[in-house]
Amino acid sequence: MSITSEQLSFDQQHIWHPYSSMINPPPMAPVESASGVRIRLADGRELIDGMASWWSVIHGYNHPRLNAAAHAQIDKVAHVMFGGITHEPAIELCRKLVQMTPQGLDRVFLADSGSVSVEVAMKMAIQYWHARGKPGKHRLVSLRNGYHGDTFGAMSVCDPVTGMHELFSGVLAKQHFIPRPKSRFGEPFIEGDCDALEHTLQTHGQEIAALIVEPIVQGAGGMYFYSPEWLKRARELCTQYDVLLIADEIATGFGRSGKLFACDHAGISPDILCLGKALTGGYMTLAATLTTAHIGETISAGGAGCFMHGPTFMGNPLACAVANESLALLLERDWQSEVNTLERRLKEKLAPAANLACVNEVRALGAIGVIELHEPVSLAQIQPRFVEQGVWVRPFGKLVYIMPPYIMGEEDLTQLCNAIINVLAELNE
Ligand SMILES: *Cc1c(COP(=O)(O)O)cnc(C)c1O
Repeated sequence: MSITSEQLSFDQQHIWHPYSSMINPPPMAPVESASGVRIRLADGRELIDGMASWWSVIHGYNHPRLNAAAHAQIDKVAHVMFGGITHEPAIELCRKLVQMTPQGLDRVFLADSGSVSVEVAMKMAIQYWHARGKPGKHRLVSLRNGYHGDTFGAMSVCDPVTGMHELFSGVLAKQHFIPRPKSRFGEPFIEGDCDALEHTLQTHGQEIAALIVEPIVQGAGGMYFYSPEWLKRARELCTQYDVLLIADEIATGFGRSGKLFACDHAGISPDILCLGKALTGGYMTLAATLTTAHIGETISAGGAGCFMHGPTFMGNPLACAVANESLALLLERDWQSEVNTLERRLKEKLAPAANLACVNEVRALGAIGVIELHEPVSLAQIQPRFVEQGVWVRPFGKLVYIMPPYIMGEEDLTQLCNAIINVLAELNE
């Protein structure tokens, strides 16, 4: 036991955790180490990880190849500024990203977190239209139930209700919102489903710089899977109405949805692509915003003469070196059949949950399994029950969902799914 109760109480009194209260601090699970698909608590208990630390740990924890990449790089240079300086880890990472992402995306901006990559994408779109002599095109269109991050620009395109826009109404940029697609993944396209988008582009196109979407999978805003046909038509409408398409693949990128990128389900290329989360295999924070040569050159030919962004830790060599190794690992392994197998097993093993009265719907796509309840769960009540069952699952609202590391075997996945179903069954009693 390396963590003391004094340390835990210091944590409670002084440290903010994601979306936590300083009056009523949530209980914390003290983690000692983690390896493969298991998180080891300070008291020696091990939890099977259903969260992959928020989509990021695709290869599992404490991976020998990722560890080695980090060690090798730290002995050369952990960080050096990116202004006026370049290095091999960044160059090779960007080369890989250009090769593996949808066609045409070959100008790369390395950002320090997902939210920053969304800010960068929005600024790119606005600078692009400014350079084209259309500074009035500065608003975005976004889907309801979307999530794009926690900084102000990103927040402005998050769902206005779950994103608590009224709290920041004087500060947030006013954007246009349309309903999320009704046409669901794997079901026929519902005619008219793009009408709201087309109407908005028709009526407000002269002030719209870009449409921003989480392609195919809406993550934190509802764990909702929608039709590739919708995305295909949205791509066509954006082109038709002179609006850029920003694909936020921070959650879906690198295989999670069953394709390398969720845009691949629709066979489309966005004008701007945001990546993050799984980019370093969950080792550290790094994100990227990719765009086309045309947009990159147009921005650079504009008034500012450059793209106006440059974080202190841009292109951090340590993060780039680990990301390089993580992408190499992904592409070497048969990630496609790993994720296909996970999808099949998630569907099979979560299916019994549909019989519980508290459950509204069970769905799975790629390495994402979702149990949607009728009523929101109390996290304070349910979280300790999952830990007692030996699994790490962190529901929000009505959604109990898992996105395991791709390496999770059948036995662990069965245990994970059964634990969830057992805990939910107690809610029914
Ligand atoms: C997590 C997430 C973000 C924000 O990324 P951070 O690294 O938390 O800033 C943005 N968009 C989507 C779709 C995400 O899932």
